[in-house]
Amino acid sequence: MSCGCFGASTILRKSSDKHVSNSEQDQEAVTITKTRTFSFNELRIATNNFNLSNKIGRGGFGIVYKGILRNGMVVAVKLLSAESKQGEREFLTEIETISNVKHPNLVQLLGCCVHGRDQILVYEYLENNSIDRALLGPRRSKKLDWRRRSAICLGTARGLSFLHEQLVPRIVHRDIKGSNVLLDADFQPKIGDFGLAKLFPDNISHITTKIAGTTGYLAPEYALGGHLTVKADVYSYGILTLEIVSGRTWANADHGGVQKLLAEWAWELYQEEKLLDLVDPELEEFPENEVLRYVKVALFCTQAAASRRPLMSQVIEMLSRNVRLKENELTPPGFFDDSASLSGRSAKDKLSGTSNSYQMNSFPSTITQVTPR
Ligand code: ATP
Repeated sequence: MSCGCFGASTILRKSSDKHVSNSEQDQEAVTITKTRTFSFNELRIATNNFNLSNKIGRGGFGIVYKGILRNGMVVAVKLLSAESKQGEREFLTEIETISNVKHPNLVQLLGCCVHGRDQILVYEYLENNSIDRALLGPRRSKKLDWRRRSAICLGTARGLSFLHEQLVPRIVHRDIKGSNVLLDADFQPKIGDFGLAKLFPDNISHITTKIAGTTGYLAPEYALGGHLTVKADVYSYGILTLEIVSGRTWANADHGGVQKLLAEWAWELYQEEKLLDLVDPELEEFPENEVLRYVKVALFCTQAAASRRPLMSQVIEMLSRNVRLKENELTPPGFFDDSASLSGRSAKDKLSGTSNSYQMNSFPSTITQVTPR
């Protein structure tokens, strides 16, 4: 029975030092700092022996338990499943990536534990669960009035902007969705689950062969080409914002038997100048102009061509300041039509439209995970 610990790494690349070989550079560039380590016994006691009654959720990486540490602090204990495809390397990556990243809108990793084959992460605990449960679940909260929803959109944008634009190297989250944005006691949002996040050298677009994320939130160019930039997160953020305003999931827009993706429906309503029809009927009072602005900003984020989507810092400005939205430049949303893979169309055809500007596809007949998690 062994408990190990890791040092967390802050990676500071010295791109200007051209005389240093890559390996030397990498070694030099890594600053080791200590991440707090918990003993397995401490976490076992905290979670009442990983009791099912302490279970608060299950994600692709394993089960999440609520725990109370000896000092009374409430924590979320994520026990990564031994069978999970995500191995020790990913675990280390997650720790390295997040342990030194601190922002009011990011879930704080408090420490970790390795016990035999078990890998465990300990996070701050967020009282009000994830947005998808608070907003879309069977026990959806009546407490999410417009003031709170707008604060959630803005706070999530701030967290993402921090990851994209203030960290060196920047971090692309890759899996922004309702279950990965948690709400604290004051309903302030915190982005969690950096298991998919990768360190991202500045000014380099990254082509990945491993598609992570959840269909529906996936930017088309990422889903199909594996082309990953911060704009993939911007796309997911746009879908999430549409969900927050409408109280519907990305796929759940049934209109008299005709199914439409949320983004597709939002675009139609925009063209018909009926955008307020999108608003969650649960919202009794809301400032119309502000809500319209949020939906339009979401449409800017979900544009098919990544280059047309704003950066998250621009999103914050568009949401919070009274800047004029350049609606004459707004183009239709794009989405990944997974049904194309069933009908044998080529990858290019799965994205309708030209290579520079993907247009709307019809609603996919089948929606499946690109990579089941
Ligand atoms: P995926 O792994 O596909 O991203 P997920 O986001 O649901 O799915 P997890 O991040 O493992 O997976 O979280 C599972 C659930 O546990 C969340 O939906 C949330 O309800 C709960 N949860 C996770 N972290 C915390 C936390 N820090 N505080 C409170 N609840 C949490």
